[in-house]
Amino acid sequence: SEERSLNFIEQIVEDDIANGVNGGRILTRFPPEPNGYLHIGHAKSICLNFGLAKKYNGKTNLRFDDTNPITEDTEYVDSIMNDIRWLGFEWADVFYASDYFDQLYAFAEKLIGKGLAYVDDSSAEQIAQLKGTPTTPGTDSPYRNRSVEENLQLFRDMKAGKYKDGEKVLRAKVDMAAPNMHMRDPIMYRIKHAHHHRTGDKWCIYPMYDFAHGQSDSIEEITHSICTLEFIPHRPLYDWFIKSLEIFPSHQYEFARLNLSYTVMSKRKLLQLVNEGYVSGWDDPRMPTISGFRRKGYTPSSIRNFCDRIGVAKRDNLIDLSTLEFFIREELNKTANRVMVVLDPIKLVITNYGKDKVEILKGENNPEDPGSGSREIPFSNTIYIEREDFMEEPPKKFFRLGPDLMVRLKHAYIVKCTGFDKDESGNITTVYAEYIENSKSGEDTSGIHVKGTIHWVSAAHAKTAKVNLYDRLFKVENPAMEEGDFKDFINPDSLHVVENAYIEPNLASAKVGDRFQFLRKGYFSVDPDSKEGALIFNRTVTLKDTWAK
Ligand code: ATP
Ligand code: MG
Ligand code: MG
Repeated sequence: SEERSLNFIEQIVEDDIANGVNGGRILTRFPPEPNGYLHIGHAKSICLNFGLAKKYNGKTNLRFDDTNPITEDTEYVDSIMNDIRWLGFEWADVFYASDYFDQLYAFAEKLIGKGLAYVDDSSAEQIAQLKGTPTTPGTDSPYRNRSVEENLQLFRDMKAGKYKDGEKVLRAKVDMAAPNMHMRDPIMYRIKHAHHHRTGDKWCIYPMYDFAHGQSDSIEEITHSICTLEFIPHRPLYDWFIKSLEIFPSHQYEFARLNLSYTVMSKRKLLQLVNEGYVSGWDDPRMPTISGFRRKGYTPSSIRNFCDRIGVAKRDNLIDLSTLEFFIREELNKTANRVMVVLDPIKLVITNYGKDKVEILKGENNPEDPGSGSREIPFSNTIYIEREDFMEEPPKKFFRLGPDLMVRLKHAYIVKCTGFDKDESGNITTVYAEYIENSKSGEDTSGIHVKGTIHWVSAAHAKTAKVNLYDRLFKVENPAMEEGDFKDFINPDSLHVVENAYIEPNLASAKVGDRFQFLRKGYFSVDPDSKEGALIFNRTVTLKDTWAK
């Protein structure tokens, strides 16, 4: 693949290696919260974290950031592991932030002991009120100057379950006048009497993100902790905890999150789409989830290439969906075998071709891949063609079929249209044509030049399959930025189902996950719900960027 220049994080890593920081050791982590399936934004983070480690002889930990007991589930844990492996990465160790609850609790007591943390009885509203504004300093809580002994006792009582949710919190004693609001005595622990998917009912106090994340990094001795830009203002606090606790100095670096046009990327919103039935599940091919893209027919390499090529930015931006589509289209053009499938059929009868004659024609599987071989395609006097490939009154540059027009049937003969039938409502029911006998593909001596080639399937030999044609899930470029409910911007035509497409007989033996180019129609992959004799194909991407401006 082509060389690209170093991104700014690779530059930092190379400098650290050159300067012998941590003895040149590189350990990154990918820290998903198991509260949903991974999306393409997470893929960006995975490729960055695992990619860095791979490139610089390092390792990457998978850490489930499971400090919030309410929203987390083992179903999500399993799907996350599956998606990371599918993308082609393997972690050195898998950890759970909840494994560190004892250690984090000990860290909290250590800060209390140093006079750097206190138990606050104020309500959430009071705490917010005393916090001040970005332009005015905050005010000390009346509980800020409790003694170390009192704080220790109260914190132990919090842990022992003596208090109800919200009655008390543990706060870091930093600086209520700090210009950075995150430094104004941030909350470290809250009381939550809730069952946790791994620790059960052992805990009724849970650490906040800011207290759990950096400390987890430090416990694992992560060297480069990479997160998204919104955590920039958290970094001084990240450093403050590590310094105050005198523990391993992990460092945080921030990059721009990936936003993709015509979709939403927050797990909360994706969960709404699933729960409210707008899509069939987290892996619906219209979802921006890794499992959705997989089901749609995307390959791991196309997603990795996309993530690598869009670069690592320091400013938020919106990447066009067509950029991602470019990468899968480019790859499938090289690897997917071509087949003929008629989605919206009309019959074409070749009147001068023997009624019972059947020829087995040869079709190359992939002109882009010399090693892909060829397949056998039966041809007979009655075939299906696409309805849109015939016009009763064609305009001048219509190089397909119409009265007296000629077209080539792919891998077969040139035919000339001689007539058609219509039903009472004016729909074309059958088209008639004559074939040119010496015009067979590969041995054409007819001397006739036609501009158009169309695909077809022999009617007597065709099998049927269901085909799902997907379109963008949203009508607007950036649904999250629109006023009102993002669901009002869902594209009502994001899925068009063809119940009985006619497929080449060969294609009937396709297996789940197989990918094809349906000539002139796009790239398709076999859906996992397919059964023998009842194949389902999902359109991965169209052949051209039909949305190009
Ligand atoms: P969401 O808002 O979708 O729930 P999140 O950041 O809360 O996202 P996490 O499970 O905490 O989700 O994310 C795990 C890792 O993936 C974090 O390091 C996070 O920064 C990163 N990540 C999440 N979304 C994106 C994105 N759109 N682009 C790049 N990285 C992302
Ligand atoms: Mg998060
Ligand atoms: Mg989140």
